[in-house]
Amino acid sequence: MKKSKEINYRKLTRNNVWVGLVALFAAVCIHVVLLLATSILLTYIVESKIQSEIDSIHGMVAIYENSVVPKEELYALLDKKGREYFITDGEGKVLHSKGQIEAFDSSNSISWQSFNDNVTYYSNSNIGFIKSGVGDGMVINLLDIFKEVRAKSADVDFNLRSDEPMVTMPIWQDTLLSDGETHFYAKASVVITVKDALIWFVSYLVITVLIAIVILLLVIAAIVNHIRNRRTLAVLFGDPVTGGKNMNWFVYYGNRIIRKKKNRDRKYAVVSIELVKYNLYCVCHSMSAGEELLRNINDCLTKNILKKELCARVSSAEFVLLLKYTDEARIQKRVSHIISQLEALSEEHKFGFQAGITVVDPTKTGEVLKNGHIRMDIKKEFNYAKAAAGALSVTDESGVALLDDKMIEEQRWIDTVCEKQQSALDNEEFVVYYQPKYDPRTDKLTGAEALIRWQSPEFGFVPPGRIIPIFEQNGFITQIDHYMIRHVARDQKKWLDEGKSCVPVSVNVSRAHFAEDDLADQICALVDEEKAPHELIEIELTESAFFDDKKAMLAAIAKLKNYGFAVSMDDFGSGYSSLNSLKDMPLDVLKLDAEFFRGDGGDGRAQIVVSEAIRLAKNLNMRTVAEGVEVKEQVDFLAKEGCDMIQGYYYAKPMPADEFVTRI
Ligand code: C2E
Ligand code: CA
Ligand code: CA
Repeated sequence: MKKSKEINYRKLTRNNVWVGLVALFAAVCIHVVLLLATSILLTYIVESKIQSEIDSIHGMVAIYENSVVPKEELYALLDKKGREYFITDGEGKVLHSKGQIEAFDSSNSISWQSFNDNVTYYSNSNIGFIKSGVGDGMVINLLDIFKEVRAKSADVDFNLRSDEPMVTMPIWQDTLLSDGETHFYAKASVVITVKDALIWFVSYLVITVLIAIVILLLVIAAIVNHIRNRRTLAVLFGDPVTGGKNMNWFVYYGNRIIRKKKNRDRKYAVVSIELVKYNLYCVCHSMSAGEELLRNINDCLTKNILKKELCARVSSAEFVLLLKYTDEARIQKRVSHIISQLEALSEEHKFGFQAGITVVDPTKTGEVLKNGHIRMDIKKEFNYAKAAAGALSVTDESGVALLDDKMIEEQRWIDTVCEKQQSALDNEEFVVYYQPKYDPRTDKLTGAEALIRWQSPEFGFVPPGRIIPIFEQNGFITQIDHYMIRHVARDQKKWLDEGKSCVPVSVNVSRAHFAEDDLADQICALVDEEKAPHELIEIELTESAFFDDKKAMLAAIAKLKNYGFAVSMDDFGSGYSSLNSLKDMPLDVLKLDAEFFRGDGGDGRAQIVVSEAIRLAKNLNMRTVAEGVEVKEQVDFLAKEGCDMIQGYYYAKPMPADEFVTRI
């Protein structure tokens, strides 16, 4: 799975609860901060009230100390302030008083010293003040005030203009006058009015409601996001046919399981299970019956897996499982048991299910990364399981096959080739070998076939049989075909320029290439680019390709011939009869497959077939090339029968260009 795709899947599947929780936490924090702000506001209100009371008392003390008017006049002046106060002399005798001063009892109060040494405060109120330990002033207990306001709230008529007191907190200020004996006691009243309480309540309420709305919106957004992700995942990971999961899901979660650090010591089995001849079942019954069957298979498989095991449909009637693995015997038994249950899905129809198993041993097959996770790819493992199942495909019977060492080796080779193919092409590691074709009657060189070899710095000399089938599978063959045509045309041009008498060289073009409708133009452009004459290039098409789209094939051949290229049918007689193709296709050359010249039963039947094939070709105006000829008798026989050319070890094996050029 591509890295970016995996990252996107991870984003989708990630649990968004954390995001929601973080947002919720942030909202709660903001709430607390705002509440603190309202408390600070209230503290500020209360403190400024106290401050104004204290300032007013300081004013009275100043008047008392600095006044020169007679005492009676002074007392009258102070009384007018409306504050309760009293003055005592050195012995504690009350010199003058106003109001209910009996209520003050210093022994029954909490007291605290001001910064100013000659002032002490007392409060006998049991709400609102906490004596601070340092003695440097008062601490207001908002909670007390709040409780008191709440207790009183039932009895008041809330009105924003009401100055009616709700909480009264009296403080007595005791000032020792400058004579060192006289004390001036005055009462400061801190009053929380209905208006104060209302402002406080309303701000508190507004903040709470706002925060509640924010939290609600966050929760709704998180839920909506979650639902949307679920829906996207259902589309990405769901299988619309079975209602189960698809391969994307399997690859994503499978990789997560096998790559996990904590699963490092566990082994898993990746199982590919395929219903053989599913298409036939659909033809005999119906498409919808087929889909119903796929649903039943999926249900049956899902029932048979344990927690933390996976099941998904890959395509058509192919399913994949990730199972926990203990040992070979047990896993084979388990898969066989699953297959017997699948077979029992229908009483009247005899199903064949073929399963391939590969064992995933993270520490053995994977690379351990720095963070402890394993670098592995479950898709690769699935391909191994599929390769194991491939060994069963010779029959239609149910069966279970475990990937053996040879298969693993083969699969690894396929992976390596796929990985290296592009760099090998870019570095020109593919080399053109030429196998000469000779006229058996004159023993003269009359042509050659270009055959690829991989000169790998890592693997040495690799024959085409080891790479061509892989390139045909993965589609790289079209690039190889281009490469070969370009190199052959280049060589031909070079040899011509050197004055050599060049012979036509045939190049193999894969059947995969014929899917492209501009094939002839592509080939023409490649050859023209190298400035090589068209008549020195021949195109070989393998016999089996003639069973593909006939119309397209015919069009491509006609176009190639029109451009001046000769076209040959390769491997004639190796597979199905292609006599029919011979009838329709305007080919130039018929290449008799090497099989004709292997182990003739001795009764001469092969000779009869070969001579008839040569006659047939002649009647159709085609030249013949016999491939794989190794012995003199065959050469003599072919010369007698009128075969035009022989390409075989008798004359020469495929050889590098510099060796071939010495022969022309
Ligand atoms: P092919 O096109 O049928 O090529 C003939 C093969 O028979 C060559 O094998 C050649 O070395 C071999 N051969 C020729 N004479 C004899 C003989 O007397 N005895 C024996 N035992 N073998 C003989 P090679 O080079 O290994 O190629 C194998 C196949 O790989 C080719 O079969 C062709 O199908 C494919 N191939 C090779 N090069 C290319 C290429 O450039 N493009 C494509 N598309 N396919 C290629
Ligand atoms: Ca060939
Ligand atoms: Ca051939």
